[in-house]
Amino acid sequence: MTNPEAKKYDLCIIGTGLAGLAATLFASNRGLSCVEVGQIGEINFASGFFDLLGVHPAGEKHAWTDPWAGIDALVRDIPEHPYARLPREDIQAAFEEILTFLKEAGLPYIRRMNQNSGVLTSLGTLKSTYCVPHAMWNGVEALDKKPSCLLIDIRGLKGFSARQIAAALKREWPDLRTARISFPDSDHLNEVFAEHMASALILSQNREKLARTLRPHIKDAQIVGLPAILGLYRTQEVVSDLQKLIGVPLFEIPTIPPSITGLRLKEAFERGLRTKGVQYLSQNRVLTVRHQADGHFEVDMGRTTAEQTVRSRGIILASGRFIGGGLHADRKRIKETIFDLPVYQPGNRTDWHRRDFLDPRGHLVNRAGVEIDESFRPLNSSRQPAFKTLFAAGSLLAHNDWKRIKCGAGVAIASAFGAVKSFMRINK
Ligand SMILES: Cc1cc2nc3c(=O)[nH]c(=O)nc-3n(C[C@H](O)[C@H](O)[C@H](O)COP(=O)(O)OP(=O)(O)OC[C@H]3O[C@@H](n4cnc5c(N)ncnc54)[C@H](O)[C@@H]3O)c2cc1C
Repeated sequence: MTNPEAKKYDLCIIGTGLAGLAATLFASNRGLSCVEVGQIGEINFASGFFDLLGVHPAGEKHAWTDPWAGIDALVRDIPEHPYARLPREDIQAAFEEILTFLKEAGLPYIRRMNQNSGVLTSLGTLKSTYCVPHAMWNGVEALDKKPSCLLIDIRGLKGFSARQIAAALKREWPDLRTARISFPDSDHLNEVFAEHMASALILSQNREKLARTLRPHIKDAQIVGLPAILGLYRTQEVVSDLQKLIGVPLFEIPTIPPSITGLRLKEAFERGLRTKGVQYLSQNRVLTVRHQADGHFEVDMGRTTAEQTVRSRGIILASGRFIGGGLHADRKRIKETIFDLPVYQPGNRTDWHRRDFLDPRGHLVNRAGVEIDESFRPLNSSRQPAFKTLFAAGSLLAHNDWKRIKCGAGVAIASAFGAVKSFMRINK
């Protein structure tokens, strides 16, 4: 039975995390009509950095300066890894397209073409990544050159400590000092939130007040580092205005999750995709999918009960892992939640985690996920494509272990590109 009222699309993208957003962008840029549906996922908690390949083999903690050389080694050693499904040129093209789009959406990223860059975290550790939001790039250069630098703590902001960062870097960066300020008009509050401060800084009068608070602390500092609060959107304007007001360059350091930088990324995508005519349904879930005799899909979606049905020629499943809800673990096994696709996983639950939390071999549960063919199509129990036009992308994919390999955003972007390209080829 088909529903005659169902609105028709070329592609239905399930998931509004980075993989789903990237897939929707690639599809709409190629003239496909798209509906995208999803709720909260990893992106809401993410740092906003785009890792491509940081560490491999993860157990040996072998860090790569050149991420492309790291990918070559990774796909030699783990031929099932999602990166092994794409030539390097496709991964490069995918990044180029995403970065161009984000620049046009007012959220430029900066990278060194063939090199990872070091960035500071809110706890004073160093992280290596591939693409850095523009508001953090001055921090990458400062970390290299170690000029006289002032780091700012904000009274009442939890999980961020400029003093801890300075203490951790004391030996290698002696010209790092800190100051603690109150965010304007928040003296009476015990706790302040990055989201509220970011919203306040959209108004120029609040930027002037913050600049007045910062100025007396600057002294001989050549650069100032702040927690990431410089606007949820229009960040370029906030950064450039504040830099003019205080007279020295600024950079942001991501706060603990949920970080403004992940939300900022999601906001830029949503805004840009809507202007491309994408039907974007945030706060909705896919409840059931029916595969029709003609090969198309009918998808029921809503908050708790079906509120609308769409019909599409293909689906890209970018439903994430346990945070996003694409995978669910019960007492016995890990399930894929929408199609009940087979999930690659250790034989039994006792093997999911090692006894030692910091075991260098990592936990096998982190490699669990949906296995795909060369065209990013999930496999059924006979190891054949489950459906001709069902594709999968992002952290849902098996053999990924992105947290340790440092390839979260890279796999999301590259696999989304591969899935859309395969849909166009197969559905000609
Ligand atoms: C705390 C944290 C920090 C991170 N930091 C970094 C970093 O520094 N660098 C980096 O490269 N990566 C980082 N990542 C990882 C990166 O954000 C993810 O790997 C990437 O976003 C890929 O996610 P995804 O789109 O596959 O899944 P998710 O972001 O989890 O999205 C899954 C989506 O599927 C939707 N969904 C699930 N089930 C349904 C359903 N039934 N119907 C409709 N929608 C559904 C969810 O609502 C959600 O929108 C971080 C992640 C976290 C959690």
